[in-house]
Amino acid sequence: MRFDRVTKRFGSNTVLDNLDFTVAPGKHVTLIGPSGSGKTTILRLLMTLIRPDEGTIRVDGDCLTHEDKGGVLHPAGEKHIREVRKKIGMVFQQFNLFPNMKVLRNITEAPVHVLGMSKDEAEERARELLELVGLTEHIDKYPTQLSGGQQQRVAIARALAMRPQVLLLDEVTSALDPELVAGVLDVLRDIAHSTDITMLCVTHEMNFARDISDDVLMFDQGKVIESGSPEKIFNDPENERTREFLSAIL
Ligand code: ATP
Repeated sequence: MRFDRVTKRFGSNTVLDNLDFTVAPGKHVTLIGPSGSGKTTILRLLMTLIRPDEGTIRVDGDCLTHEDKGGVLHPAGEKHIREVRKKIGMVFQQFNLFPNMKVLRNITEAPVHVLGMSKDEAEERARELLELVGLTEHIDKYPTQLSGGQQQRVAIARALAMRPQVLLLDEVTSALDPELVAGVLDVLRDIAHSTDITMLCVTHEMNFARDISDDVLMFDQGKVIESGSPEKIFNDPENERTREFLSAIL
């Protein structure tokens, strides 16, 4: 995944400023930084909930923001965006499960309707994923019958059911009661260590970031001000802003 000179403004507020960064396939990258520094905006751009004012975004070699028509680059149309978007899965802070569907159908709905997978295949895959997230016995429940941590694990299974190449995680534990956080992070650690999925993660859970990240990018005012291995960023940051930020939250 690659951002090339991406700028995003909201009115006169430049939220991302000529931003460049790359996440190599299969790598796990965590974005950290103060509130308002632009982390969520990056995930929203990748989900195509918003579009950049300038620059290009590529996912696995495919351009999300532009399409080539006869050798000329044009802003990407809806159909092109839908195709590239299939490569990206996202888990949100607030789970966002379909409340009127049982767990199994929450997971099979998109593979069947978006990817055109057969119902049998989608259900087989959903059962495998429910085992992975430790929820096999809850397959026939509605989301409201589950704890927040269990709902979030269903949301993770639902994202993986689309076989995304990239998984986006937006503060996935911040709406959970503290005692439920560890179960969700354990599942994500397993996925990070046992699959070759590319992960881009926004979190305030620094221990989790340390465990799963190949690289950590520190943001401030819409720019990456420092990046490196978790050991480097957490133990020996070079930038004064990074040091201040980490000492305030660790
Ligand atoms: P947090 O850690 O608090 O979630 P963040 O680093 O994820 O912060 P963003 O949510 O990306 O930050 O927001 C960056 C800036 O963009 C903020 O100043 C925010 O107010 C502004 N912003 C985000 N979305 C919009 C919008 N739809 N309209 C106007 N301004 C917005």
